[in-house]
Amino acid sequence: MKTSDWLKKYNIQLKKSLGQNFLSTSEYAKKIVKKGSVTEEDTVIEIGPGAGTLTEEIAKTGAKLYAFEIDERLKPLLLERFKEYQNVEIQFIDFLKANISEIQKPKYIANIPYYITSPILEKIFFETPDFQLALLMVQKEYGERMMAKSGKNYSPLSIFVQFFCKVEKVLNVPPHAFIPNPKVDSVVLKLTPKEDIPDINKKGFFKFVHVAFSQRRKTIRNNLKGLIKDRLDELLEKSDIDPKTRPENISIEKFIILYNNYMKLKN
Ligand code: SAM
Repeated sequence: MKTSDWLKKYNIQLKKSLGQNFLSTSEYAKKIVKKGSVTEEDTVIEIGPGAGTLTEEIAKTGAKLYAFEIDERLKPLLLERFKEYQNVEIQFIDFLKANISEIQKPKYIANIPYYITSPILEKIFFETPDFQLALLMVQKEYGERMMAKSGKNYSPLSIFVQFFCKVEKVLNVPPHAFIPNPKVDSVVLKLTPKEDIPDINKKGFFKFVHVAFSQRRKTIRNNLKGLIKDRLDELLEKSDIDPKTRPENISIEKFIILYNNYMKLKN
């Protein structure tokens, strides 16, 4: 049955406010799940199963699947669709409030509600640091920011994601793959956790990066002026960064060096 038939059967009108753009058929759902090399040994977490189109392709692999859906209107539909699957457990709660820290080595596969992309990433990285991979469908612009290594799309979000993960685009998904059709293209990104995550105060580092990007057209010197007044030139020199460089041209590795030197000078 197509997604639209399920929605019709249960008389469900999709809500923009919940980021409800559903995959209209299983075509892209199959492609996404294939990229995860999921086996029945795996545990998968899906955020926002919607009408269950992606969920069904994950369920068919035999993996243990935990799905979290905030919209209770979808409950009867999802309960019917997955009544034969012993490996599927659906909770009707806000994923951001879900207790997931006991789920071991999960693989994430999800077409995520775009309006909470950043909090979802934070939850994945901080609450399940042993996750195996995350295949996340996001809006193309957001995906470009997550992947950028410098330039106009490079931002605190790029640094946040790439601090924890290797990021690669594995699929382009056109608007016609969804109901309703969004105005923008989507991409599926594969996030693979890095093994050598630097041992620094992460929250402090990301706060520092935000300050460094507070005015992205200005120089790094200008943006850091408020943080460290008297020894700023010494800090930049020690970190081998030209004071006139814009934050969008400073690599993540350089930002880590800069932050470490900043902490040393501060203390
Ligand atoms: N997975 C389905 C698909 O691909 O067809 C639906 C994807 S749709 C982009 C996002 C889904 O996330 C919707 O079903 C929406 O109700 C759900 N959602 C939105 N906010 C949520 C939250 N905080 N926690 C759990 N699910 C949420």
